[in-house]
Amino acid sequence: MVHLLRRRTKGCRDPEDLQNDNHSQRDFHLSARFWSRTVLAGGVLAVFASCLPARAAQLTVVAVDGTLCDITRTLASSAAAVTCLIPPGGDPHGYRLKPSDRQALAKADLVLHNGFGLTPSASKITTSGKVVAVGNVALPRYKGNDPHIWHDPANSAAMVTVVANSMAPLLPQAERAALGARAAKAKAVFVALGGWAGAQFSGLPAAKRVLVTDHQTYSHLASRYGLKEISMLDSYTTGGVLRPSSFQTITAVVKASGAEVIFTSSLPANKTLRRISRSTGLPIAKTPLYGEGVASGQTAVSTATLNICTIVNGQGGRCDRGAAEKLAQRWSAIP
Ligand SMILES: [Zn+2]
Repeated sequence: MVHLLRRRTKGCRDPEDLQNDNHSQRDFHLSARFWSRTVLAGGVLAVFASCLPARAAQLTVVAVDGTLCDITRTLASSAAAVTCLIPPGGDPHGYRLKPSDRQALAKADLVLHNGFGLTPSASKITTSGKVVAVGNVALPRYKGNDPHIWHDPANSAAMVTVVANSMAPLLPQAERAALGARAAKAKAVFVALGGWAGAQFSGLPAAKRVLVTDHQTYSHLASRYGLKEISMLDSYTTGGVLRPSSFQTITAVVKASGAEVIFTSSLPANKTLRRISRSTGLPIAKTPLYGEGVASGQTAVSTATLNICTIVNGQGGRCDRGAAEKLAQRWSAIP
């Protein structure tokens, strides 16, 4: 029965919150409070009882973008009500705040966003709560211009620390130790993910550690694992406009790069990628890379392993999917 009813209680959320709930397919668990209510009242009535106004003091958190939604929900468990703004597959760069987002932001105790300008609309947030640009706090010395920092698992581990440290002072004392325990487990999974990723990439010959994409999204992953990232449109065009001369340069650079495949963020791939595929003779990967956050129905960890397997397999290597699955399970089992 626990498994049938598994669901994190976050108070009774409105339909928008439920729509934005990226976690519907995993790792819900029943808080002791909800469970005791259910047992005491029995049956369906108890489910409605759980939808009566939640604990007035429950911490409310909004996670804006990137993989923060999953990291925040995992760390919050039932200790906070978490609303996520950008759904899986959403584009953080072009995201515009909806009226319901503004409402959620206005009443939040804590607002977490990725930082480094991933979501420009995050600079327009109005809230009386605390706002944390998680990436900027996690990587204070980073001076580059790629906001997709979570693709390096070490950065994700650092983000876990920042999210936990941001949440802890706002929680009742009694909840903090459990938060710390979840954060420790979450960091351990990202450390293990980092080791697994290193093993996958080291199986590729050095000349094949190449990642050809349209826009720069994986520089953090690339620099951690010694990949050569060629983000064609960012490196060889101005504003993504493909002039004949840049088209020729891209074709030459990609052909000489050791790339086996051109990676895409969406399928079917856009016209420009198809054109470059024809000019270079390289196929477009059959699986997309999920660069902007968590893939639909996936977690922060399973999205990372999917991406890494896509890259390694695309470049002619072999990916240990069994070990990847175990990592994803460890993440989802964080209580
Ligand atoms: Zn992006």
